[in-house]
Formats: sequence, structure tokens, C-alpha cells
Amino acid sequence: MGNVQAVTSPSEVKVLVIYTGGTIGMTPKDGVLAPEANAFVEGLRKMPMLHDEEYAKKIGLEGNNTLVLPRDSTASRGFWCSSTVEEKTITRLTKTNKRVVYTVLEYSPLLDSSNISIEDWGTIGKEIEKEYENFKGFVILHGTDTMAYTASALSFMCEHLCKPIILTGSQVPIFEMKSDGTDNLLGALLIAGQFEIPEVCLYFCKKLFRGNRVTKVNAESFDAFSSPNLDPLAVADVEISGSGWRADHTAQFHVSTELNRNVGLLRLFPGITTATVTAFLQQPMEGVVLETYGSGNAPNNRPDLLAALKEATDNEVIIMNCTQCLKGTVSASYATGQVLNDAGLISGGDMTSEAALSKLSYVLAKKELDVNAKKKMMGQDLRGEVSYGAKTN
Ligand code: ASP
Repeated sequence: MGNVQAVTSPSEVKVLVIYTGGTIGMTPKDGVLAPEANAFVEGLRKMPMLHDEEYAKKIGLEGNNTLVLPRDSTASRGFWCSSTVEEKTITRLTKTNKRVVYTVLEYSPLLDSSNISIEDWGTIGKEIEKEYENFKGFVILHGTDTMAYTASALSFMCEHLCKPIILTGSQVPIFEMKSDGTDNLLGALLIAGQFEIPEVCLYFCKKLFRGNRVTKVNAESFDAFSSPNLDPLAVADVEISGSGWRADHTAQFHVSTELNRNVGLLRLFPGITTATVTAFLQQPMEGVVLETYGSGNAPNNRPDLLAALKEATDNEVIIMNCTQCLKGTVSASYATGQVLNDAGLISGGDMTSEAALSKLSYVLAKKELDVNAKKKMMGQDLRGEVSYGAKTN
């Protein structure tokens, strides 16, 4: 991905930007949008909102991949963050006039996020681990299509995280006039540089979300993401205010890149055949997110289908019961939900499918755990991804 230059001054904070691709840096070519290598930093350099050329010259930043934001006059007011979402740390964010100096590491090749794979999550995670001590916070520029998956995966992979990792991107390329890219990048940089948020977050359209709670809900609007079961951690208005940070300062930060690929997502629909379900659950499948109806329901007049599910769980396939609904939680309130408990499924509570799938991938890769310990872990709240249970790291 390239080299990181060190910049040190007490009047500056350093943020590492990992630019993976996505619409934010794309340019039109032959009638479609595609990322263009080595053009992003040069483009940002010409944007006064995102780069203070004069100050950069003063501190000798010319001609490399490190840029500097203009001074943030609102920062001098300081912000209160109260914990209303969870009973966690109440953080007084210190008044800061520090400049955000940011270094852009460009991914090669740049990716439309439809092309992101599990290996890319590992590459991003390892880069953060390598530079963890050198930066105050991290911004990941990513296409919106699979941003919720990457945010969820990184939230599990990053163990004992104490610094902000903020994913963002845009719906319109940043170099176009009516883009949301400038606002999104600027907000993400300020949050990563000036706030104590020890979480993997997604910042979009003025809202800071917990990364493993979001889902992309709109392919056309700037307001592309929703966190249906957890309010935004912060909202950026004239000031930025928010709540609910989670931190674990007890152990060394580590990025776990061991992920299990034998996981899958299956959505129930009326008339789904048992043959389809059985085929889906065959080896090498080890973990499945079953998207069920309403509060976690499935037909209880289909013994064949229920037997197929039971056979899979008996064979140690972990099946998570997650609702197809955007909002709400799985609860065994109906007989049609109870049958899934009986078939050995684990309740996914109010987890998004993206979070449940990446959690499965993370947990199933833990070779030191037996299947019962893995099931237990799937039922726990690991990173604030679900509204029950005790947090573990
Ligand atoms: N297809 C693009 C991507 O996900 C869409 C975007 O960035 O908004 O990379």
C-alpha cells in the first residue's frame, strides 16, 4: 500500500487514511464510474476544505501523501459526550485546536467495494495494527456497497481497540460539484483525529454509527445507511455530540485475521424447497445466518424443512436466526419461532445480517474453541453488535 511518513508536532494530531476505492475517488470512464490509481491525493491537495497548502508548506509537507486540514475553529468549544446508549464511560472530549494531519495510503489495485474480499479485511486490519502506535485514529475510505460488511468484520477482528477507526465513502465522487464526499471525509477525519472513540464506526451523512449496527438502505440518497436497532453514536451538526463509546484498555491491541470462509446467508421465503435448504447446509458449510420472518419465525407446518435444519445443527453447523425485518429483534413469541429453537438455531437478537455473518466467520475461526464454546460466543455481545448479553473481548 505504500509508505507512511512520520510527522510529529504537539500542535498536530495524525490520522492514517486507508483509501481502498469506492465512489468517493472514482472518475467517469467510458460511461461508467471506476477508480483511478494515484489521482486521489493530488485531487484532495487542490481542495482548500481538505488541505491547507500554506500550512503544509510551513511544516514541510509538500509533495508527499500527507495532507493537513485547515484549522477547525469549532473545536475550541469542546464537546460533551454522555452515555445514554449504554452505561459506559462518560467522556469529556478535550478542547483541541490541533490540526489534523493525515497520511493517505492508497490500496493497489483500488477496488469497487463489490470486489472486496475476506483477504482485504485482513490487509486493512494488519495495516492498522502495524501503524497503531503512530496515529491518533484511522479512516478507511471504502465503497458503500459492502461497507457495512467491512465495518462489521473489522469490529470483531480488532481486539482491545482503544482508538477510532472510521469508515466512510460517498454516493457521488468527491471531485464532482454536488458530492457528499467532502463532508463525509472531513467529518471522519475530525472524529478520528479529535475524539476519543474506541470503536469501529461508520460515518455517513452527518451521522456516526457503530460499525456493526449498520446496513446500506439507499442506493441513491446521501442518507445511505441506517442503524435500525441502535441510535447513532454521534451526530455532526454545528458541533458533534454523541454517546455510548466502548473501550477496553486492559490488553494489547491485536487484529485477528483468522476468518472462516465457510459461512453463508439464506433468506427464507414462502415455498422455499427443502432441497434448496438441504443443499445450502451441506459441507463445507459451518455457519449460516438464516433470515427468518418477523420476530424470528419459520413455517411450523414443514417438518421436512425443520428436519433439514435440525440435521445440520446436529452436525455442528451453527445457524443464527436473524430477522428479515430492518428493525426489531428475534424472540420466541410464536410457535413458528419456537420450532427454530427446537431445531438448534441460536437467536441473533437484533443483529444485522452483516454483523451476524462476520461474527460467525470470526468465531468459527477460533481453533482453540469447541463447538459449544463457539455457540456460546455467538450468543454473547462481543462488540456492542447486539442488544443483550455481557461484552467480552
Ligand atoms: N459501487 C460503489 C462501491 O461500493 C458504490 C459506492 O462506493 O458508493 O464501491
